[in-house]
Amino acid sequence: MTYLIASDLDQTLIYSPAAAARGPERVSRVVEMLDGKVISLLSEDTEKGMLEVAERAVFVPTTTRTRAQYERIDLPTRSRFAIVASGGGILVDGEPDLGWAASVVARLAGASSPVAALREVFDGYRDREWLLRVRDADDVFLVAAVDADLLHADELAHVTGACDSHGWRAHHQGRKLYVLPHGLDKAAAVAHVSERLEVETGCAVDVLAAGDTLLDWPMLCVAERAWVPLGSELDRLGSSAPHVTTTREAGLAAGDEIVAGWLEHTTA
Ligand SMILES: [Mg+2]
Repeated sequence: MTYLIASDLDQTLIYSPAAAARGPERVSRVVEMLDGKVISLLSEDTEKGMLEVAERAVFVPTTTRTRAQYERIDLPTRSRFAIVASGGGILVDGEPDLGWAASVVARLAGASSPVAALREVFDGYRDREWLLRVRDADDVFLVAAVDADLLHADELAHVTGACDSHGWRAHHQGRKLYVLPHGLDKAAAVAHVSERLEVETGCAVDVLAAGDTLLDWPMLCVAERAWVPLGSELDRLGSSAPHVTTTREAGLAAGDEIVAGWLEHTTA
């Protein structure tokens, strides 16, 4: 049996200082800085656990971050595979898997408008006070920075409807609005890496996963076992399934529990 551990990073294993403060205190180190500001922390126990996990499983960071944003994080292990841009990209030994990128483009082309059409949709909202800026994520999807206090439910419903008519979905998370084509999700990329490992090792692959938002849910659903941090979006929405465990604590301590869960499961 080969274990593939597909884990989201932000607010699952690494935590912003604000998110870390929502859980019990843990000894941690800074794993990401930007413009002189601390962006992400990793607890010492999570880090130790990740090093152990890397010896008995294929650990695959699986993030909505772009490749550049992912590479900015000082993770304790260098993974052979990483999934970025919410499944839009797979890095193999740090380099993009071009075959996967081409297959994503082909798959999405049949089901949703190109990213340029969505840029136009957002151009139509540029005079709205809630919309601060829009950027491309590795040419696969858009991320809009929004003022959450000004983005009212009726306006959000309007944006969601406009995206939907193009075969895209808008996903609001605090100060960000993620706009992704239908069909782009982490689960498909995890399945691809899993199949590749199965071919390489000749063994069945068991997928364990962890994540905190709705963007992670499809990936958690296809895993054998999955973990969700206490107080996360998925926890607040009551997303649950028999194979999904919610941690007892929030913040950095949730990361510790998740990694402990992987270690326990991969020993058994
Ligand atoms: Mg996350």
